[in-house]
Amino acid sequence: MKYDYLVVGAGLFGSIFAYEANKRGKKCLVIDKRNHVAGNIYTNKVEDIHVHEYGAHIFHTSNEKVWQYIGQFAKFNRYTNSPVAVYKDELYNLPFNMNTFHGLWGVTTPSQAKEMIQKQIKESGIIEPKNLEEQAISLVGKDIYEKLIKGYTEKQWGQSATELPSFIIKRLPVRFTYDNNYFNDFYQGIPIGGYTQIIEKMLEGITVELNTDYFSNKAKLNTLAEKIVFTGMIDEFYDYQFGTLEYRSLRFESETLEEDNFQGNAVVNYTEYEVPYTRIIEHKHFEFGMQPKTVITREYPKTWEKGDEPYYPVNNEKNNKVYEQYKQLATQEEKVIFGGRLAEYKYYDMHNVIEQALNCVERELNM
Ligand code: FAD
Ligand code: UDP
Repeated sequence: MKYDYLVVGAGLFGSIFAYEANKRGKKCLVIDKRNHVAGNIYTNKVEDIHVHEYGAHIFHTSNEKVWQYIGQFAKFNRYTNSPVAVYKDELYNLPFNMNTFHGLWGVTTPSQAKEMIQKQIKESGIIEPKNLEEQAISLVGKDIYEKLIKGYTEKQWGQSATELPSFIIKRLPVRFTYDNNYFNDFYQGIPIGGYTQIIEKMLEGITVELNTDYFSNKAKLNTLAEKIVFTGMIDEFYDYQFGTLEYRSLRFESETLEEDNFQGNAVVNYTEYEVPYTRIIEHKHFEFGMQPKTVITREYPKTWEKGDEPYYPVNNEKNNKVYEQYKQLATQEEKVIFGGRLAEYKYYDMHNVIEQALNCVERELNM
């Protein structure tokens, strides 16, 4: 055997594992089916702007260890995510905070806003929220639900908000202060120079083979290493034997514009159902860019079919049950380690993936 580990996937999880293994003298072969490293955090330079090719990626964490860890590979700027939401000809601040409440109802104090929300919750009659719709109304009332949540959510997930799990909406803060910061985390920023450099640094000195799909070369690849770290889709690994896990996919449409500032913000959400995209990203604003041109990307949600990129796991009860069956098999494997957003079928952000990867390193390499 030529390698200690075959790492399937050169995304954040696979690259951290390979970096830490290499540091400890283990030989790794990293493969990826794409023609570049970095997985979904890949950024690419266009018109001197770092374009987030797979959607906006804002780094945020409250975990000191994770922040220190990622800081070894890049300097982070002071970017704070403050998206705005467009609903018809109205514009509101996100996440839901005093600026949103003022824009919507003209209220100016937290107690007025709370009173308004309480009144709407009471009218809805919801006591114990059982799905995303009820959860959203219980948090912010019916007006905000109808203008800023329902349309966005239903196009993003391709199903009714009454069928979706409530944890999805709990990702967003609700605040009674005039604070437009989308995240509650202690640390936040964008790596100056983009994300790809982080992964390139991790993979320095490690053999990487791109355009290599594990499933097309499985028999041969399995003979090359003692163990496998797999970061692809767990259901595909087990040949879909318990059924296909559901994902949500996206189509990105990018454009270079001959103007320096298209929308004045990195992220603008379109919350109306009738607008077919969920958001427009203007990449230069992540790094306070002053380039003469600008690059924007519209994000169109899409039903996932085999062969599409599986961007979001759909963590409802049905899919989680199927996943548990795959996980049972995974825990019995002696030579395969599963990790990352696809192999663990979890709606992980980057900081979660780093935490999981470092835990995995601890278990596997620091014994
Ligand atoms: P991935 O990045 O998906 O890497 C897996 C790699 O494995 C891929 O490169 C894939 O090509 C490869 N692979 C899969 N199957 C095979 C195979 N059979 N053979 C070979 N290679 C294979 N997180 C944040 O913290 N902040 C954000 O703002 C944020 N925004 C996001 C926006 C979008 C649209 C999406 C989709 C995700 C966002 N995330 C965000 C989450 C973030 O992208 C993930 O947490 C992180 O990239 C997951 O890393 P990973 O290594 O688990 O998976
Ligand atoms: N959401 C919404 N309106 C918005 C933004 C988000 O209703 O303007 C809901 C939607 O259901 C979305 C979820 O909140 O899927 C989580 O949003 P987040 O921005 O965390 O999604 P991601 O960046 O992961 O796509």
